[in-house]
Amino acid sequence: MVAHLHLDKVTTADRLSPEALAAYQRGSMDTRRSIKLASKVKEGYSEKDVLSRARPLVKEAIRYGVNAMRAFADTDTVSELRAVRAMMALRREFSRMIAIQVVAFPQEGIETDPGAEEYVERAMEEGADVVGGIPWLERDAAKQKLHIDKMFAIARKHSKSIAMLVDDAGDKSLRTLEMLARKTASEGMEGQVQACHARAMQLYPDAYARKVARLCKRAEVGVVSSPHTGPLHARIDLLRRYGVTVALGQDDCSDAYYPFGRCNMLEVAFLASHILRKMTPADVEELYDMVTVNPARIIGSETGTISEGSPADLVVLSERGVTEALAVHGRPTAVVNRGILVSRNGVEER
Ligand SMILES: [Zn+2]
Repeated sequence: MVAHLHLDKVTTADRLSPEALAAYQRGSMDTRRSIKLASKVKEGYSEKDVLSRARPLVKEAIRYGVNAMRAFADTDTVSELRAVRAMMALRREFSRMIAIQVVAFPQEGIETDPGAEEYVERAMEEGADVVGGIPWLERDAAKQKLHIDKMFAIARKHSKSIAMLVDDAGDKSLRTLEMLARKTASEGMEGQVQACHARAMQLYPDAYARKVARLCKRAEVGVVSSPHTGPLHARIDLLRRYGVTVALGQDDCSDAYYPFGRCNMLEVAFLASHILRKMTPADVEELYDMVTVNPARIIGSETGTISEGSPADLVVLSERGVTEALAVHGRPTAVVNRGILVSRNGVEER
């Protein structure tokens, strides 16, 4: 299960200066600079180009047992509707094998990119599944709040869920996770909002971090963290202690921000076990939940029970336990989606 992936950006690393990667990966995380540099690549986007890069990765995801994916498509004045339309075409093309949810994501901001709001609105009219957002990128708290308000208004109008990137830089003064949680509760949209990254949470003062965790729990905001793609990450253990649903996301595959990745969520869990120092049997069970049932809960996908009448989705591994499954992080023996065998021993079924 992949709750967060920038699917339109995959396999673009070789089209960019490594400076975007260096700025993101430095301890101080100069994400604004990375986003500015990474934006260049979108000028060359066509639907065909996006499809030809994303299609092999979707197939790879299926072979690794991913049966649902929330795909973020840049929807802004640079890529316009090209990326989001390509994602919707992939959603149709692979509907038998994987449930792709398309997020209309204003990567360049809303206030900082005049016109982006209209593109998000048009993407929702054309059938995108989720309203995106990146409020932390705005210049000040008032504009960040406005960004959140505008995206909630679009989500309300279309009766859709929300997925936003919050506090994704090495700046401890960022407060958009809190803003998002408060807005979710005040709008009565509990359980319909996902927060990604929240990397600045690692730098928050402890008391403030606890307050934000409490707010996330109250608003039922699910948090998707990708510790393998950046030097900072959300405080996963604290969030879990407060009862917040936390998932691991793939985030990137060979793009401006991260040069690896193949939608192998066991690999993501394996990497997280080292970064987070979570290796006991109980820890590994938690990590396993963070790539299976937890992301399913956050993106509203049915899964997690083996019982009569439940969806016939199944990933068969040959390892003897969860620790061994993470150690090997290989391809599943079989992948069944809605009762159809879609992959066997890493080979896609027709
Ligand atoms: Zn991301």
